Amino acid sequence: MNKTITINAYQVQVTHTPDVCVVGGGAAGISAAIAASRIGKKVLLIEKYGFCGGATVAGLSGTICGLFNSGNVTREQIVFGFAEEFYSNLRSNKGVVEPVAFGKTWLVPHDGLVWKELADKLLQNEGIEVLYHTNFLNAITNDSGHIETLLVKSFEGQFAIQPKVVIDASGDAEVIHGIQGETFMGADGVVQTPTMIFKMGNVAMDAFFKTSPQEINQKVVKADEEGSFCLPRHHVYAFPLPNKNEVLCNMTRITYPDGSTPLGTSSKDMTYAEMAGRKQAREYANFLIDRIPAFKDAYLVDTGAQVGIRQTRSIVGHHQLMNREVLDATKSKSAVSHSAWPIEAHGAGELKIAYLENDHYDIPFETLLPKVGKNIVVAGRCMSAEHEALASARVTAQCFGMGYASGAAASLLINERMDSQQLKGEDVLYYMKQHKLKNSYER
Ligand SMILES: Cc1cc2nc3c(=O)[nH]c(=O)nc-3n(C[C@H](O)[C@H](O)[C@H](O)COP(=O)(O)OP(=O)(O)OC[C@H]3O[C@@H](n4cnc5c(N)ncnc54)[C@H](O)[C@@H]3O)c2cc1C
Repeated sequence: MNKTITINAYQVQVTHTPDVCVVGGGAAGISAAIAASRIGKKVLLIEKYGFCGGATVAGLSGTICGLFNSGNVTREQIVFGFAEEFYSNLRSNKGVVEPVAFGKTWLVPHDGLVWKELADKLLQNEGIEVLYHTNFLNAITNDSGHIETLLVKSFEGQFAIQPKVVIDASGDAEVIHGIQGETFMGADGVVQTPTMIFKMGNVAMDAFFKTSPQEINQKVVKADEEGSFCLPRHHVYAFPLPNKNEVLCNMTRITYPDGSTPLGTSSKDMTYAEMAGRKQAREYANFLIDRIPAFKDAYLVDTGAQVGIRQTRSIVGHHQLMNREVLDATKSKSAVSHSAWPIEAHGAGELKIAYLENDHYDIPFETLLPKVGKNIVVAGRCMSAEHEALASARVTAQCFGMGYASGAAASLLINERMDSQQLKGEDVLYYMKQHKLKNSYER
């Protein structure tokens, strides 16, 4: 019989008492859950959609960025650990294509369905309990700041989870926000713009591979300037996908007519962004069919299940990754991941890309450690980072690395009866080693 507690005068059943509850099943949440489980913890992962993948799958971001070096160099993989485990599993399931050049680095386009299937399988193999269609609503702390209860809503109604430790992998710092922890949005509230990503089918691939990105960009500019199509973003990306004749199109840029950016933390803004995003995706698809010969017989397969949101709340952490640290390739003793991904900042009027030259920077564990809370760590996109630093660090390979370290940190908190505020990154790394969890820069 489940215990019942009273929240705001309502009786709510406590249905789960895991060691670790992971909120969110994106790249960061999956790796966090798997790391904690591999150290022997009872893990529950909750996710509002009916599948894992978050921005990568629901938002159709569709490529793993951040695995490789950058600069005038030959390609070399520099990020391993759980990112490599997931990547190699995708490879064996024919879920990726060969790495594709992106400016001075490379990325790996992948298939969304294989990604979802693989996440299901890895989580099930670990014996992790997964609750899809379950929304985190709020967190309730006791007088000493310890999170005792997570109030969630599923198809069955509202219920309570009482975990020993929470990992906020919601991308939006939902749990930190719920406990009134300090967060901030972008540069003085200005965040990166959303993009509705879409897929084109029946593309003539031989012709596609002969079409340079510059040629597509030049034709976008011409078509937009002559008024034949309304194409607000001029620097667009198109990548081949594992499914025959399919191309992933990261082309749209969603702003309000006054140039302001819809926020991923507002249903009103999100509704606008979804509707405007689908309309814009159709416009770019029509342009491709009309103006790029490889797309002459192509069709718009679908858009993401949701508009892609690059940035919402960032936590105020024990360490904030600064723009300079990225540009200066700063190293850290408590690195949870290397990264050579450029600062790729999608603004309302422009796309700014700053590459690292033959070097990488480190993401310190302390960027995942909020300044509030006794039994919580974060993972992934809601890390503590300055606006432009986040425009580099937020990509999939690094989110895998952050999640894996957060899962280990959650276990360390339980095993050593520690408080989050006492955690040290170097201890987390040592603990990972003791438990044979590969850090993301160990092959
Ligand atoms: C348009 C766009 C293009 C991009 N392109 C690339 C690219 O090409 N390559 C690349 O590597 N990266 C790319 N990125 C970045 C990358 O996809 C994300 O930053 C990364 O996937 C974030 O992972 P995450 O696990 O931190 O968060 P998310 O992927 O956002 O996962 C968070 C999860 O939490 C769930 N969640 C949120 N709130 C709740 C709640 N209240 N209750 C329950 N569940 C909740 C969400 O549904 C989601 O599944 C792109 C992002 C965007 C938006």
